[in-house]
Amino acid sequence: MSDLADQTLYSLRGLLETGQCSAREAAADLIARIRERDGEIRAYVHLDEESVLRQAAAADAARARGEGGELLGLPVAVKDVLNVKGDPCACASRMLKGYVAPYDATAVSALRAAGAVLAGRTNMDEFAMGSSTENSAFFATRNPWNLDCVPGGSSGGSAAAVAAGEALAALGSDTGGSVRQPAAFCGCVGLKPTYGRISRYGLTAFASSLDQIGPITRDVRDAAMLLKAMAVPDPLDSTSVDVPAPDYMAALGERLDGLRLGLPREFFSDGLDPEVNRCVLTAIELCRKLGASVVDVSLPMAPHAIATYHIIACAEASSNLARFDGVRYGFRAGGANDPVELCCRTRAAGFGPEVKRRIILGAYVLSSGYYDAYYVRALKVRTLIRRDFDRAFASCDALLSPVTPTAAYRLGEKIQDPLQMYLGDLYTIPANLAGICALAVPCGMTGTALPVGMQIMGPAFREEIPLRVGHAYQQATDWHLRRAPRHGKAGQAAP
Ligand code: GLN
Repeated sequence: MSDLADQTLYSLRGLLETGQCSAREAAADLIARIRERDGEIRAYVHLDEESVLRQAAAADAARARGEGGELLGLPVAVKDVLNVKGDPCACASRMLKGYVAPYDATAVSALRAAGAVLAGRTNMDEFAMGSSTENSAFFATRNPWNLDCVPGGSSGGSAAAVAAGEALAALGSDTGGSVRQPAAFCGCVGLKPTYGRISRYGLTAFASSLDQIGPITRDVRDAAMLLKAMAVPDPLDSTSVDVPAPDYMAALGERLDGLRLGLPREFFSDGLDPEVNRCVLTAIELCRKLGASVVDVSLPMAPHAIATYHIIACAEASSNLARFDGVRYGFRAGGANDPVELCCRTRAAGFGPEVKRRIILGAYVLSSGYYDAYYVRALKVRTLIRRDFDRAFASCDALLSPVTPTAAYRLGEKIQDPLQMYLGDLYTIPANLAGICALAVPCGMTGTALPVGMQIMGPAFREEIPLRVGHAYQQATDWHLRRAPRHGKAGQAAP
C-alpha cells in the first residue's frame, strides 16, 4: 500500500488493526519519504533507519501475539530536546553535539509503553530558544509550504516533518509557543497541555516553570491520542500533577452546543495581519454556527506578557544552562590552563548567540540590585496575567485567538532583529505564563498559500475542551486535509 506516510495516526491504526498493512511497511514508507524529501526540507537532525524498522517489526510481532497498546506500530518523531535512550540528544547545540541519551524521557517511555515507534530526531532552535529554527547550530529547516520561509520554532523540525509527510506526528516542547507557532506556520495541529499534565522528566530544561511537552499532528484526534498516552503522573517530576486524564477521544464530537467561547480583545489588536484576522474571524463564525455562543472578553495584562516572559524565561535559562561547563556534558574547549578558563572557553565556543543573549539577560535580572526591580516584579505580573485568565474562564469555556500575528516569514527576515522575532510570540506566551492549555489548529491560508492557525485556549487540566472545539471545527472544514506542495515553491499548493 502506498502513501502510508500521509496517514494520520488514527487512520494508520485502522489499517494496522485490519491487517491492510504492517507496521514495518509503514516504517519503510516513512523512511522512503524522508529520503525523498528531507534533502530539501531538513527537518531531521538524526534518523536511525535500522532502529525504526526494528521497532516496527517488534510491533508487528507483538500484534501477532495479540499484545500491544493504543499506539502499537505508530511512528512518532521526537524533537532533539527530549531524551530517547540510545539516540543523540543535542538540543541543536554545539554544546551537546555527540551526546547520547542514557535514558528515556517519561513522555517517550509512555509512548514506547503504548507501542509507538520512535522515528527520528527533529531540528529545533538551540535549546528551544527561538521562533524560526534558524538558531539551530546545525542548519535551518524550511517550511514545506514555501521553501523560502521559516517553519516557525523552536519545534520547527517537528512541524515541518509532519507538514512534509516526513512524520505522521512528532513531539515538541512549548515554553512560549514552540509547539503552537510552528504548527500554525506549517498547517499542523499543535497542543500545549497544561503545565504539569505531561512529565518534564527527560526534557532538557529551558525555563522549568514554563516548559511543557506537546504533540504536533495532522489533526485534533491524533493530538488527543498522543496526549492520552503521555498524560501520566510521574514521581520523577515533582511538578507533574496527578489529575486523572479523561478519555479525550470520547470528548470529541461534531457540535459545540452550550459552549461559551471568549474572544480576548487584546489578541485582535494592532499588528495583527489583516489576512490572519480574516481567517480567524471566519473560523470563529463557524464555531458559532456549530452551536457555540461567542462573547468578548478582556485580558488587560496580556500586553505585558512578552516582557514578563523574557525576564522569567531568561532567568530560569541562565540557571538551567549553568550545568554546561565543559566538565560534565558534551563539548569541551581545548587550550585552558585552569578550570575557570575551561568553563569560560567552553561556554563561549559551545553556545550560539541567542543562547548567550538569554543567559546574559537572565544573569542580569537575577543579579543583586536588579532582582527585585525585574525578576520579582515579573513574577507579580505573571500572577496578574493568571488572574486575568481565571476571570475570563469564569464566564467562558475556552478562548479563541490567532496563534501568531502573521503567517510564516522568509528565512533571514528576522534573524538579525531579535526584538521583532520576540514580538511574534505575543499570542502564545500568555498561556505558558498562566499554565493553562492551548491548541493550535489550521484555519485558513493567506493569498500566498501559507497556512494560518487559530488558537483555542482552555482552563488548566481541561484539554478536552480545546480538543472538542478543534475537532468539531475540523469536522466542518478541510484546512487540516490540505497538504504542502511536494515540489516547488509558493503558489503551487495542492487544493
Ligand atoms: N519563541 C519563544 C522563545 O523564543 C518560545 C520558545 C519556546 O517555546 N521554546 O523563547
